[in-house]
Amino acid sequence: MPNFSKEMNEKEYEAKLLGTPYPKQDPYGALSMPVYRTLAYEFSTAEDMEAAFCGRTGEHTYSRITNPTVQHFEERVKRVTGAYGVTALNSGMAAISNTLITLAWSGGNLVTSRHLFGNTYSFFVSTLNAFGVEVRFCDMTNPGEASEAIDEQTCGLFLEIITNPQMEVADLAQLSEVAHAKGVPLIADTTIVPFSAFHAVDFGVDVEVVASTKYISGGATSLGGLIIDYGRFDRYRTPALKALAGAVQSPFHFRLRKEVHRNLGAYMTSDVAYLQSLGLETLQARFERQAAACKELAEKLQSLPQIQVVNYTGLQENPFYEVSKKQFGEYPGAMLTFDLESKEQCFGFLNRLKLIRRATNLFDNRSLIIHPASTIFGTFTALQRETMNVKETTIRLSVGLESVDSLLEDIRQALV
Ligand SMILES: *Cc1c(COP(=O)(O)O)cnc(C)c1O
Repeated sequence: MPNFSKEMNEKEYEAKLLGTPYPKQDPYGALSMPVYRTLAYEFSTAEDMEAAFCGRTGEHTYSRITNPTVQHFEERVKRVTGAYGVTALNSGMAAISNTLITLAWSGGNLVTSRHLFGNTYSFFVSTLNAFGVEVRFCDMTNPGEASEAIDEQTCGLFLEIITNPQMEVADLAQLSEVAHAKGVPLIADTTIVPFSAFHAVDFGVDVEVVASTKYISGGATSLGGLIIDYGRFDRYRTPALKALAGAVQSPFHFRLRKEVHRNLGAYMTSDVAYLQSLGLETLQARFERQAAACKELAEKLQSLPQIQVVNYTGLQENPFYEVSKKQFGEYPGAMLTFDLESKEQCFGFLNRLKLIRRATNLFDNRSLIIHPASTIFGTFTALQRETMNVKETTIRLSVGLESVDSLLEDIRQALV
C-alpha cells in the first residue's frame, strides 16, 4: 500500500471522523446521524424562542440557517481539519460565491489567476465585477507578480491548488507569505486534493473552499460545497469585517454565518449532508486507491506513441513535480490530462471508449473523460481559451475505482 500519510495518518483521519460526537443524544440510540428533514423547530415558550432567535442558545430555528444533520457534517469536517469554523453549502459555486461576497466590497479588488474553474472565472469577471469589484489576474507561480498586484483595496488572494485543465501548482507557502506581508488573506480552492490527504493550513491558507460535489459526495451522489475557515487571519480590509475586528475571533466566519449565508440562502440540505457525511467516511480509502491508480496510469500512458504529453504533477518530469510533492506528497489527486495531435483525434478517441464514461464531474467511482475546450470552455471565445491555456488537443481523465489494467485496455483500443 502506498504511503499517503503526512501529519494526519489514515487511521487518525477515520478515527477522528467516526468519533465525532452528536450534539445531542438520540432517543433511540441511532448509530448514524438521523436526517432531520424539517424546516422549522418548535419551542416550549416565547422566552426560549426569543433566546434562540437572538442567537443566545445555539438552538436551531430554521433550516436555511442551521440544521442538525448539516451541523453534524460540518462538525466532522471541523474535527478532521482542525478548522475554527466550517460552513456547508449546496454547491461548490455556492461556497465560492459566499466566500467572496463575505470578503469583497464595491471599489475593492480581488487578486487571482486566469487558470480557474470555468464558473469561478465567470463569477469573478461577470457577477462580482458587476457589483464594482475589480478582478486582477496574475501568474500565481510568480509570487513577485502576485505581490505587485496587491494594494490597499485588495480583499484577498484566491487560487486553485492544482489548476484544471492546465495542471499548474503554485507554491502556497510563498504566496501566503506574500499575502500576509501585504495584509490580505490567502483563499484556496482545494477541491483537487481532499483534506484527508492535504493540510492547506500548514501552507498558510486562511480559508479553504471545496466542491464537496467531487471526492466527498462519494459516487457523485449530490452537489455540495464547504467553506473551511482556520480563524487565523484577522486583519481584513473589508469594511464590514474591519468593524468586527477584536470583537469576535473570526470576523470572516462571523459575518458569513450571521449575515451572508442567510441572505444568499444556499445552505446545504439535510439529505445531502447525510449522503456527504457517508462520503466522508470512505473519502481517504477511495482517494488512496484512485490517486495510486491515476499515478500508475499516468506513467503507463507516457509510453503510448499516440499520446503527445501526459500532464500529472506526480510525474518526475513534470515542471511542478517538486512543489507538488512538497504540498501533496506522491499522489497529487486522481485527475490527469493528456494531449493527442488534434481536436478530431480527441473526438474519435472519446467516441471509441467503452469503459470510461463521457461525462463531466471529477472523482466519481467511475472513470470520467471530457474534452474541456469544447465543453466546459465551449462558450468561451478562442482568445479567452488561449489566455486561459485551454488547448483543443487536451483530454481530461478523472480516474475511478476500476483497475489500471481495465482502464489501460480501454484507452489502448480507443487510440487505434
Ligand atoms: C466542480 C468544481 C467547482 C464547482 O463545484 P460545483 O459543486 O459544481 O458548484 C469549483 N472548483 C473546482 C476546482 C471544481 O472542480
